[in-house]
Amino acid sequence: MNPAKISPVQIARRGLMLVISSPSGAGKSTIARTLLATDKHIGLSVSVTTRQRRPSEVEGVHYLFKSVREFERLRDSDALLEWAEVHGNFYGTPREPVELAMAEGRDMLFDIDWQGAQQLQEKMSADVVSIFVLPPTMTELQSRLHRRAEDSEEVIQTRLANSRAEIAHWREYDYVIVNDDLDTAFDAVQSIVKAERLRRDRRHGMFDFVRELLEETPSL
Ligand code: ADP
Ligand code: 5GP
Repeated sequence: MNPAKISPVQIARRGLMLVISSPSGAGKSTIARTLLATDKHIGLSVSVTTRQRRPSEVEGVHYLFKSVREFERLRDSDALLEWAEVHGNFYGTPREPVELAMAEGRDMLFDIDWQGAQQLQEKMSADVVSIFVLPPTMTELQSRLHRRAEDSEEVIQTRLANSRAEIAHWREYDYVIVNDDLDTAFDAVQSIVKAERLRRDRRHGMFDFVRELLEETPSL
C-alpha cells in the first residue's frame, strides 16, 4: 500500500516570521490574538517594553515589562533582534526565542511597529512576511482607541497624533489589510499565512520529496 494514502505528506520547511503592524487601535493585536488561538503552528514573539502594564496585560504573556535601565542592558548586550522607541517608550524583540524557532522550523508572529519591521526585513528578509493593518476611517480609529479603554486620554491623544506618520509606511509591507469587519480581515490574514507556508522557496523538503517521487515506479 502507498503510505502517502494513509498519512498526509509532510514536507520540511523553514519557519516564517509574520510581522503585523498598524497605527495603534487599528486592531492588529486583536487579529494576532485570534490567529494565535486558532493556529497551533504559530507562536508569539513576546517583546520587552518599558511601557506601563495595562490592566488586562500579563507579564510574560503580552510583554516582558522592564525598567529603562534593564532595557538598555538588554539592548547593549545585543540580546535584542530589533528595538525602537514608540510613543515615548522602548520596545524590543528578544533575539534568542526567534533564532530557536527559526532553527526548528516554527512560525513566529511579531506585533511590532514599522521601525522594527524595517530592521527585521534588513536582517532576515527571506523569512519575513509583513502585513500592515489599516483602520476603515480615522474616526473609527479614534473610537477604537477609546473603546479599548485601557489607556489614559493623554496616551490616546499621543497615539492618534502618531497614527498618520505610521500609516505613511504602508507601502513597505508585503500585504495591506483594511480592518473594517474583523472576520473579513482575519480571513485575509489566514489566507496569507496559508499561501506563504506553501511557497516553494520556504519548503526545502520538496527536493527530497520530488527526488523520491521520480524514483518511484508504480506497480500495477
Ligand atoms: P492595536 O493592537 O492595533 O492597537 P487592538 O487590537 O487593541 O488594536 O484593537 C483596538 C480596539 O478595537 C479593541 O477594543 C478591539 O476590540 C477593537 N477592534 C479591533 N478590530 C475591530 C473591528 N474590526 N471592528 C470593531 N472593533 C475592532
Ligand atoms: P502597545 O503599547 O500598544 O502594546 O504597542 C505600541 C506599538 O509598539 C505598537 O505599534 C506595537 O506593534 C509596537 N511594538 C510592540 N512590541 C514591539 C517590539 O518589540 N519592537 C518594535 N519595534 N515595536 C513593538
